[in-house]
Amino acid sequence: MNHLEDTIVAISTPIGEGGIGIVRLSGKDAIPIADKVFFSPKGKKLRDAKSHTIIYGFVIDPIENNRIDEVIVTVMKAPKTYTREDVVEINCHGGMLPLHATMRILLREGARLAEPGEFTKRAFLNGRIDLSQAEAVIDIIRAKTETAERLALKQLEGKLSSRITDIRDKLVELCMHIEAYIDFPEEEIESLEKQDIINSIDMIKGNLSNIIRSYDEGKFFREGVSTAIVGKPNVGKSSLLNALLQKDRAIVTEIPGTTRDIIEDYVNIKGLPLRIMDTAGIRETHDLAEIEGVRRSLKAIDGADIVLAVLDASRQLDKADKEVIDKVKGKKTIIVINKSDIESPTFDLEPLSFNLKPCVRVSALKGDGIDDLKDAIYSMCITSSKAADAAIDAEDIIITNIRHRQAIEKALKSLYNAEDILKRNEPLEIAAIFIRESLDSLGEIVGVVTTEDILNKIFNEFCIGK
Ligand code: GDP
Repeated sequence: MNHLEDTIVAISTPIGEGGIGIVRLSGKDAIPIADKVFFSPKGKKLRDAKSHTIIYGFVIDPIENNRIDEVIVTVMKAPKTYTREDVVEINCHGGMLPLHATMRILLREGARLAEPGEFTKRAFLNGRIDLSQAEAVIDIIRAKTETAERLALKQLEGKLSSRITDIRDKLVELCMHIEAYIDFPEEEIESLEKQDIINSIDMIKGNLSNIIRSYDEGKFFREGVSTAIVGKPNVGKSSLLNALLQKDRAIVTEIPGTTRDIIEDYVNIKGLPLRIMDTAGIRETHDLAEIEGVRRSLKAIDGADIVLAVLDASRQLDKADKEVIDKVKGKKTIIVINKSDIESPTFDLEPLSFNLKPCVRVSALKGDGIDDLKDAIYSMCITSSKAADAAIDAEDIIITNIRHRQAIEKALKSLYNAEDILKRNEPLEIAAIFIRESLDSLGEIVGVVTTEDILNKIFNEFCIGK
């Protein structure tokens, strides 16, 4: 059976108490099913309502013949809706009882419980948005900072899609050009013309490489910069964490799907969400022997995008400090010299001069130098000369999604192969095959080429009701 034949329903607002809670229906029977459970004191029927209007009434249980909740209902008729199908949104009072009772009756009257992301999946399957735009929806919901949200919105508006489509158009042109020679083998391709084709491939390769390069920064905005604060016990790691969190604590999220829910702390640094890792672990080190403390703290380094290596300015550097500095050698690290409020004529920076990590002096206790530290963190993550904000406002594309990056890398590899074939005067057919391959890889981003697997993976990330 065609999945799109069903009418789906879900509670689209978060679980818990709220001013209102919305039950959303989508599908060809959305309006008749809603009508079965809707009662208007003025005798109105949803099926008679104009599209995009709101009607006051009650949700009733037609079998028990009782009222469930006082509601307003929005009727949106296809095709100008989120899913391009008929959509009905029932605004209930925002408690679990009215919402669940409404759901139960709608399910009984013929709707099916929506899968995670199924509304957005329908928007994609019905052609309203492409795949990268569908992915942007979840990024908007999950955005931790305004900048991350703006990046996602840009993707939802189709900026990435249109760039990819432009590149694909150029590749199609190239392919047709090459295939013309395959169809008429008596014609020899001139070397000048061949050079033109190679130049075009080169240009497209350059474009793709630029987009790939934007990923590292884009990823930081989307997923946050995972940050490890390391150092031996008592240098002030917890104090530094608190100093960072104090003013700009962004959001605390619960990430489901792990055996225990992890609470993560985000610090907003000029729009960059800093995700401070394993803070519980850091606090834990407090009562441990120094060696064990250092060992635990260093464990956090592996998964980190950047490391803040904390030293205590009030004491001489010792073996444990050096061990920390040694361990962070290959990592993006900022050396944080804490307790700078304490007079410390003896503090010896000598061992640090061996590696050229940026150093920032702070007092976690007094808050001195914390802004400098944030600046240092920002410039360590955002390396391009252009500020991220400017890039977002300009027509630049910043990709944030690993799936997009992988697809572009695949496309790029195929283009290298195609170019190789042309340069070595091997059969044009093979060059054309590689260009087609590259077209397919790019097609995966917008969803013109896709598999059920890719779709499931993408939409399973969504919450139910979106
Ligand atoms: P951790 O074991 O590395 O997490 O260290 P803590 O953050 O628990 O700090 C250890 C001790 O150093 C505490 O008594 C803090 O109050 C103190 N401390 C932390 N940062 C500073 C600072 O900037 N200046 C001063 N004077 N003391 C600090």
